[in-house]
Amino acid sequence: MALIVQKYGGTSVGSAERIKNVAQRVARTRAQGHDVVVVVSAMSGETNRLVALAHEMQEFPDPREMDVVLATGEQVTIGLLAMALKDIGVDAKSYTGWQVALKTDSAHTKARIDHIDHERMRADLDQGRVVIVAGFQGIDSLGDITTLGRGGSDTSAVALAAALKADECQIYTDVDGVYTTDPRVVPEARRLDTITFEEMLELASLGSKVLQIRSVEFAGKYQVRLRVLSSLQEGGEGTLITFEEDDTMEQAAVSGIAFDKNQARINVRGVPDKPGIAYQILGAVADANIEVDMIIQNVGDAGTTDFSFTVPRGDYQHTLKLLQEVQKHIGAAEVDGDDTVCKVSIVGLGMRSHVGVASTMFRTLAEEGINIQMISTSEIKVSVLIDEKYMELATRVLHKAFELDKA
Ligand code: ADP
Ligand code: ASP
Ligand code: MG
Repeated sequence: MALIVQKYGGTSVGSAERIKNVAQRVARTRAQGHDVVVVVSAMSGETNRLVALAHEMQEFPDPREMDVVLATGEQVTIGLLAMALKDIGVDAKSYTGWQVALKTDSAHTKARIDHIDHERMRADLDQGRVVIVAGFQGIDSLGDITTLGRGGSDTSAVALAAALKADECQIYTDVDGVYTTDPRVVPEARRLDTITFEEMLELASLGSKVLQIRSVEFAGKYQVRLRVLSSLQEGGEGTLITFEEDDTMEQAAVSGIAFDKNQARINVRGVPDKPGIAYQILGAVADANIEVDMIIQNVGDAGTTDFSFTVPRGDYQHTLKLLQEVQKHIGAAEVDGDDTVCKVSIVGLGMRSHVGVASTMFRTLAEEGINIQMISTSEIKVSVLIDEKYMELATRVLHKAFELDKA
């Protein structure tokens, strides 16, 4: 008998029928003799609906109140799933994030999990109940409701699996595993039986939304056995995230491609070129809790420099406003930007031992006439910032160039 955490995403609980299907799947796992903790998302589209409503009230919704609103989506699905399970004779109990309690810091709308109390869940499991927990939400030290960032139910599930020392955390979604790239964009994409933790971490951090990045980080930190599976089809082993590299096999140079539209570029032009400038520009952005990703500083003429960096698209206007203030202090000539850009990245452990991977990427994009605005590299990835209108084309031609369609 094992303890299994199963997470069902928005599409998987997107209708009454789908919730009943989830109940059947949970019941089957129970019938095999396993203890089950289920984490659910809000019904598909619901969180977007709530975000839009909030923006009708305030241009920049108050973060604390935003979380009060956002957390309602998951509260509906936990209750409905508990009812569906009871209806087929399976004892179950639902809990919100704060009832569990899943304790977080106070960074509203992007809170981090600090601690999970698991006594109450344990007591239920010991009594043979299925425990259902609302994903995406927690509570801070002030007793306020927090949420964990979009896609955060994955993280709730892996964190619960770590806290409960579960045997496996199964992420059920609308695709049957992790693919070489998003199968909705490249139909030739191939499902991977396994993917290394490091590659999954890169893909997730570079925009592949099949798993939220924090969930992969948690899995690594606590060595949680993590598997991605389809809730819409029967059978199949899905994709297992592995923690050991298989060095008996020749590694392909590239294992996957990720893309991310949640990008905006900010340019600060004509900045006096002297020590402390990067700090004055980026310090102000960091103080506003805005994440900076790619950064470029060019050598300019006449003692000035141009400075560009990327931020999440949702923070674009806010960052522009902040920097217009900073511009006055540092005497920069101009602040502008572009929020119609995207980042496309190739990822693979094999890059460590293959040379010329980046140049193949640049050549492939050049052949399509796609201009590269920024580049960033690490040992196992190369990312480029390009015009968002080329995102799908770039992904498709790179998928072909690196022969990811071939096993
Ligand atoms: P859920 O609501 O179940 O959390 P998400 O929409 O967050 O589901 O994540 C699943 C989606 O991730 C898939 O429908 C697919 O379009 C997308 N995706 C992006 N990259 C990949 C990839 N490499 N492999 C599989 N799916 C991917
Ligand atoms: N419902 C939340 C979202 O749409 C959390 C999740 O689905 O993981 O982002
Ligand atoms: Mg998701």
